[in-house]
Amino acid sequence: MSANSLPESTPIWHTLEVDKALDLLDSKADSGLTPQEVEQRLQKYGTNELEEHGGRSAWEILLDQFKNIMLLMLIAVAFISGFLDFTAWQAGQLKPGEVPFKDTVAIMAIVILNGILGYVQESRAEQALAALKQMSSPLVRVIRDKKLLDVAAKEIVPGDIMLLEAGVQIAADGRLIEQSNLQVRESALTGEAEAVNKQATLQLPEDTSLGDRVNLVFQGTEVVQGRGKVLVTNTGMQTELGKIATMLQSVESEPTPLQQRMTQLGNVLVSGSLILVAIVVIGGVIQARGFSNLQDLLEVSLSMAVAVVPEGLPAVITVTLALGTQRMVRRNALIRKLPAVETLGSVTTICSDKTGTLTQNKMVVQSIFTNNNTFRVTGEGYAPVGDFQLDNQKVPVEDYPEISALLVACAVCNDSVLQKEKGEWAILGDPTEGALVTLAGKAGIEKDQWNSKLPRVSEFPFSSERKRMSVINQVEEVATGEPSLTSVDPAITGFVNSEPYLMFTKGSPELILARCTEIRLGTHSAPLTEEQRSKILAANDQMASQGLRVLGFAYKPLTEVPPEGTDEESETSLVWLGLVGMLDAPRPEVRAAVAECRQAGIRPVMITGDHQLTARAIAIDLGIAQEGDRVLTGQELQRMSDQELEQQVDLVSIYARVAPEHKLRIVQALQRRGRFVAMTGDGVNDAPALKQADIGIAMGITGTDVSKEASDMVLLDDNFATIVAATKEGRVVYTNIRRFIKYILGSNIGEVLTIAAAPILGLGGVPLTPLQILWMNLVTDGLPALALAVEPPEPDVMQRPPFSPRESIFARGLGSYMIRIGIIFAIITIILMEWSYYHAQTVTGDGLDPERWKTMVFTSLCIAQMGHAIAIRSNNQLTIEVNPFSNPYVLGAVVVTTILQLMLIYVPPLRDFFGTHWLPPAELAICIGFSALMFVWIEGEKIFFRFMGKKTV
Ligand code: ATP
Repeated sequence: MSANSLPESTPIWHTLEVDKALDLLDSKADSGLTPQEVEQRLQKYGTNELEEHGGRSAWEILLDQFKNIMLLMLIAVAFISGFLDFTAWQAGQLKPGEVPFKDTVAIMAIVILNGILGYVQESRAEQALAALKQMSSPLVRVIRDKKLLDVAAKEIVPGDIMLLEAGVQIAADGRLIEQSNLQVRESALTGEAEAVNKQATLQLPEDTSLGDRVNLVFQGTEVVQGRGKVLVTNTGMQTELGKIATMLQSVESEPTPLQQRMTQLGNVLVSGSLILVAIVVIGGVIQARGFSNLQDLLEVSLSMAVAVVPEGLPAVITVTLALGTQRMVRRNALIRKLPAVETLGSVTTICSDKTGTLTQNKMVVQSIFTNNNTFRVTGEGYAPVGDFQLDNQKVPVEDYPEISALLVACAVCNDSVLQKEKGEWAILGDPTEGALVTLAGKAGIEKDQWNSKLPRVSEFPFSSERKRMSVINQVEEVATGEPSLTSVDPAITGFVNSEPYLMFTKGSPELILARCTEIRLGTHSAPLTEEQRSKILAANDQMASQGLRVLGFAYKPLTEVPPEGTDEESETSLVWLGLVGMLDAPRPEVRAAVAECRQAGIRPVMITGDHQLTARAIAIDLGIAQEGDRVLTGQELQRMSDQELEQQVDLVSIYARVAPEHKLRIVQALQRRGRFVAMTGDGVNDAPALKQADIGIAMGITGTDVSKEASDMVLLDDNFATIVAATKEGRVVYTNIRRFIKYILGSNIGEVLTIAAAPILGLGGVPLTPLQILWMNLVTDGLPALALAVEPPEPDVMQRPPFSPRESIFARGLGSYMIRIGIIFAIITIILMEWSYYHAQTVTGDGLDPERWKTMVFTSLCIAQMGHAIAIRSNNQLTIEVNPFSNPYVLGAVVVTTILQLMLIYVPPLRDFFGTHWLPPAELAICIGFSALMFVWIEGEKIFFRFMGKKTV
């Protein structure tokens, strides 16, 4: 059948038998589609994507920008200034050559520019987040051309055979072909929080409601448990979700801590400037000094209002955050929620999984323990090549039937696939299981072969809560009537007895052993004695204390297949087979990362489902814990009240044998102790803990879709060291933001005070026009501030404790710095202003305007900021101690800005436009001299603080 003959009208899939559905879509359950068929269907049905709708409209985003109090004040200033110009123009009071409404136009241009910038920033942020989400979007496991493949969700087509397992977010609608304990949470579609039990074999009446179509699965829903094989029936906008989806893909935009801080800053600045304006106006009216009329008074007020607003700040913040996010991605940390960029630097505790995050998740079986013998297993990686040794002597596996039995269990009770890719052995699936297939392969026991000898008929799947899994297999003899397996393969002699089914169970050794009543010795089973039990537990401890991950194995002959959901009863009276210990080496880079964490005042904590001794051995190796440190197990935690846990939580660095719900309690307890917690997770049930954590971190490689969806950040390489690197970037971003806020606002305060001082000192008129102020705030402050935004980390960035994410923007001396530097700035400028005013009035020559004192004030304010930019690069190091080329942008910005400022004075058209005056070189030199005092002061402060032993951060 060609793609064109695929059904045009949508069949009612839940009413159909599986075979009929497969026929209609011309697909096969075991081989799937061919690449050509996929290509044709992609052409016909399009990609499996939802169109984006919803969210705020572009207009709404744009209008929202003008709800900012500082922009509203600027708009008011533009109107008043326009009104003043209008009355002056009508009264014919304009000076010759003066262009009316220049300030109004300039201010409105800035307002609109800021609005557009804010708009671009927000829509960019939304796009960037959507793109990041796309990057972390799930791969779907499908069968195509008889092979298992992981493909991007958007490439799924109707007819594809899709495999589901716990934690997967379903990528398309489909008809179940087979399922095992499959439970799906469909709340995204039906609103029903309770997971639905799915059933492949049913055929349902046509009028069955969506929530009851248990033989179908739907896009966007989540597999909570079990496994399934699905024939994809609908993709993209044809899915049930596509029909209703409008909001799903819209990215939720929450005000970030920085936005909240900026609102706080705006309010303080606007109210501060209004108070100052009031003081100046009242003072001016009472003294009646310096003001020729009400208009002067208004002009001063307007200039002050323009001066106080940091017009360049939004742009600089946008750039800083964007660069921060990019740098984090380059270091393999994908930010999914923007606040994380700013708050990562505040993390005080990192709770990390062990397997795969602290360790490499490349498992190699090192030893096995059966029937009182510990065998060493040689070989590397996933290559099924190696020996079994007893007392350092290679032994033939055939001589030890219980080994073969254990290895059959390893191969059969297993969902991973071992295959050769480009000449290298690799596994598809869980590395723990991969190691077991490899182990079995070393003795010639091949998974595929055994899967056909003992076809799986049912299973109780693995979950982190159960810490075990079982498979129920039919014994071929009964299935096909062929000669007894006993004669075919001695390895399972004694397994079978006369029962038609075998259940193999593997999992946490203590748990499995507790469910055993017999033990396999040689080719038969015998009652399990207490002595044997303690020997097994001792062997388990022995392996675990070497840092090995240990699994226990058992089996049970069955007369019939146990019904789904009866695991508790069925997994009892087992026959013990043995222990398998595998090495999962720590990641080499983690040791240094842990040490860096400690220096940075961040406490690493290991939370693992593994055995306490395994956990301890690895934690000690990595420096997370020390010999003698307490390990809290899930069982102990279960017995503790929340208060008891809260008392312990600051002391314990290793939690072992925990279940996902314990993770939630640990985060909550830490948070109640005031900690700012980053928590990793990968499983479907880790989502609540990830959401609760201040920074929820999902694993990019091994993480389930559900955990990624709940996270703030995804680790593309699953590596603990990446968390530490991202934390460092977070600190750098926040430090740089504080740095340029200090830089910009110090100058704003200086400007406002200088403007306010002019009339009070009785100098005629306003020293700075709104246009000049805008120039300063945007260009001469803006460019160096942008350069400061890319300042590299200070050497001690990871040697100081984290800062509270809830601290005010003015905390840690930022407020006092701004005011102090603003005042110094103003004092220097006011002295220059007083001097230059009288100097300019008295010294007049050819073409020299007595009004040029204003240009001297303007120039000196701008140039002083250049010195400030250079000095503020480090809080504590003197400028001569900082490498000027470690951030060449600052030098570049200073040079460019100074040239631009000089052009405003010496290029006639610019001079006219900005209303400046030509300055003789000597006067320019005086301006530069005064400006340099700013630099001298800041360097002097650093020396003073150093002398006093105070460090500013
Ligand atoms: P971490 O939380 O650090 O990633 P983990 O990977 O050991 O640790 P889980 O995957 O929850 O945590 O595993 C918990 C325990 O369940 C393991 O220690 C092991 O005993 C058992 N286990 C792990 N994988 C399997 C599996 N595929 N089949 C059966 N039991 C397993």
